[in-house]
Amino acid sequence: MNSIYGFTYEGLKAALSQMGEKPSRADIIFPAVYGDMAEGLESLPLKRETLDRLAENFSFEAPECVAVQQSETADKYLFRLSDGCTVESVLMKHEFGNNVCVSTQVGCNMGCKFCMSGRLKCRRNLTVSELVGQLVQVRRHSGCRIGGISVMGIGEPTENLANVLDFIGIMMYQKGFDIGLKHITLSTCGIVPGIYALMESAYPVNLAISLHAPEDGLREKLMPVTRKYPLAQVMRAARDYSGRLNRRITLEYVMLDGVNDSDECAEKLSALIGGMNAYVNLIRYNEVEGSGFSCSPHERIMSFYDVLKKHGTGVTMRRSLGDSIDAACGQLSAGAEPTREGKPNG
Ligand code: SF4
Repeated sequence: MNSIYGFTYEGLKAALSQMGEKPSRADIIFPAVYGDMAEGLESLPLKRETLDRLAENFSFEAPECVAVQQSETADKYLFRLSDGCTVESVLMKHEFGNNVCVSTQVGCNMGCKFCMSGRLKCRRNLTVSELVGQLVQVRRHSGCRIGGISVMGIGEPTENLANVLDFIGIMMYQKGFDIGLKHITLSTCGIVPGIYALMESAYPVNLAISLHAPEDGLREKLMPVTRKYPLAQVMRAARDYSGRLNRRITLEYVMLDGVNDSDECAEKLSALIGGMNAYVNLIRYNEVEGSGFSCSPHERIMSFYDVLKKHGTGVTMRRSLGDSIDAACGQLSAGAEPTREGKPNG
């Protein structure tokens, strides 16, 4: 039995057709599932006979919400999947609307040294229904309208791109969540083929790249993936993405005390970006126990910010939402004990 949340609109039409049902029933089912948030087949406005046939083929299985930690600015959801694995999503309550950060894998193999999620070896990719189910459950539990999605939770999304793209297609369905392309951001640690694959896909959403260092030597120490995809390649892919889609790229830069936060690093970062249509998002580091890193002092962050500004580099500072509940960037770990098995893919 397949979860209804695993079907794209086109996929559902094909499945209905295979069952001998009219594909046009998708025009009744999709708005009911994603607009009216039907919780079961019984709520669908269809004849008994059709419902019985659908019941033989579709379930409404979604990740089970086992805990919610709430704060003023962010709510963290812990979900248990059908095989017992757990993942987390975060509802971020911005002044301009609500945004949900979703996880794409159980664990992550990228092994970024400052990241809690990177301590958990990737066990598997999330399915489309598990991706969609996170949003369905957050909306159901919170009762909030969701205006944007950050594909930035646990996992490297480009390693699960086919499922992520189907998920995005479902989220964009206009009589459902109706979230526009420009309100969805995918963050990668710099998987170059993944950036190009997203660029060529049906849903080239906003791209964020976790940069965190302006040169390969330092970046490799923080992000082992740099060995496979050096900065020159990552920045070329970012330029191509921005140029082709006329889109501004976000370059994430976490401020680590005494590691990557010197004025010299800021100078090098500005030079690396050059005239590219991009801006740097400076992130206060949310300390993770045992990581050995701490957040740069406020004055250091401001000095770094000023150097970037002086060179005409666009820069913002992310308001850190959710750190009181360990829901901020790099702190998601699905409540599991960390293991030190993470390693870069390939
Ligand atoms: S920062 Fe992202 S890519 Fe790196 S280990 Fe954490 S979840 Fe994986």
